[in-house]
Amino acid sequence: MKDGGKKEVLDLDRFKKFMEGRTGVDHLSLALFILSIVLVVIGSLFRWSILRFISLVPLVWCYYRALSKNKIKRHQENILFLKYWYPIQTRLMNRYRQLKARRAYRYFKCKECGQQLRVPRKKGKIEITCPKCRHTFIKRT
Ligand SMILES: [Zn+2]
Repeated sequence: MKDGGKKEVLDLDRFKKFMEGRTGVDHLSLALFILSIVLVVIGSLFRWSILRFISLVPLVWCYYRALSKNKIKRHQENILFLKYWYPIQTRLMNRYRQLKARRAYRYFKCKECGQQLRVPRKKGKIEITCPKCRHTFIKRT
């Protein structure tokens, strides 16, 4: 029991030493890892063995990047990845927030100016005034 614990510490030290000077897992590597898993799952669901084979490509790339000692190059790749990823992430987050808000709000379009209006649900029949053009209409929420 005691020896087992000691061995674990030693293994951790060896691992730390092994990872010294290497890139480790960054955003791009994590994305590659997730992509690989997604491909495996899709490949398994639809029994496309070719997809399961292709899933090895991002996985190997992920390991290659994590173990790479060329930190500067890997960092540049990560920055480039994030430049494209962050706008997508922002859009997905906004879409998710909107979907979640649909439980609490109803959305209407102003007939006069096309402005999208958000009103709380379950308030019965209410008069809605468009804040942009002051057009008013009655809707059930
Ligand atoms: Zn309006």
